Amino acid sequence: MIQKNYRNVELKVAEACKRAGRKRENVTLIAVSKTKPISDIKEVLALDVLDFGENKVQELCEKEELLDKNIRWHLIGHLQRNKVKYIIDKTFLIHSVDSYRLALQLEEECCKKNVECDILIEVNVAEEDSKFGVTVDATLPLVEEISKLPHVHIKGLMTIAPYTEDAESNRKYFRKLRELAVDIMAKNIDNVSMHELSMGMTGDYEVAIEEGATLVRVGTGIFGERNYNI
Ligand SMILES: *Cc1c(COP(=O)(O)O)cnc(C)c1O
Repeated sequence: MIQKNYRNVELKVAEACKRAGRKRENVTLIAVSKTKPISDIKEVLALDVLDFGENKVQELCEKEELLDKNIRWHLIGHLQRNKVKYIIDKTFLIHSVDSYRLALQLEEECCKKNVECDILIEVNVAEEDSKFGVTVDATLPLVEEISKLPHVHIKGLMTIAPYTEDAESNRKYFRKLRELAVDIMAKNIDNVSMHELSMGMTGDYEVAIEEGATLVRVGTGIFGERNYNI
């Protein structure tokens, strides 16, 4: 079932790329495996998929230890400063940086371990109270500040759109994130790239791709519903 789901999502990703006149290789489909067991992840790994997303540090570390070292782990959930030390050398990309204090912690930890880290800035485009992320207006000042940290490299922006049954209603947020990235790119800030746009989940990844997503984060559409009670 999981492999069939994955192929189905992959097909829709390819179709969305085509509609948007984009190359398939410019969009990464991240399989969001949070709450799901190792056996489920192995099914997807068997399809030669290497990009997986987790939202909790402990869960990511446990899975990282048990699975193929070639996996590119994406941390997509909120990151607390006291957890930075556990994941700094295990993640391919941290999608959820939304404060200078957190970035500074990443810098310190990178220095200690003599590594570098790639991050995205999480933007709360829809201004939902329940969500993490900086406001649209605060994004450029934050990017400028973080750009001065030599071991931390901003690669783009991330947003979590509101939960909705109607994917079209999120198009405006995806478009806004892309416009923001274009504006920031035009500033040509040293140590800052704006090429990556992490946006779109099971309910709206096709619309997100049409609006320029380079990373889509799909959990339920691949692994099925999550059960948080077990
Ligand atoms: C859980 C999660 C996803 C995946 O959500 P689905 O709706 O199951 O595809 C994507 N992004 C973030 C940040 C998440 O926490």
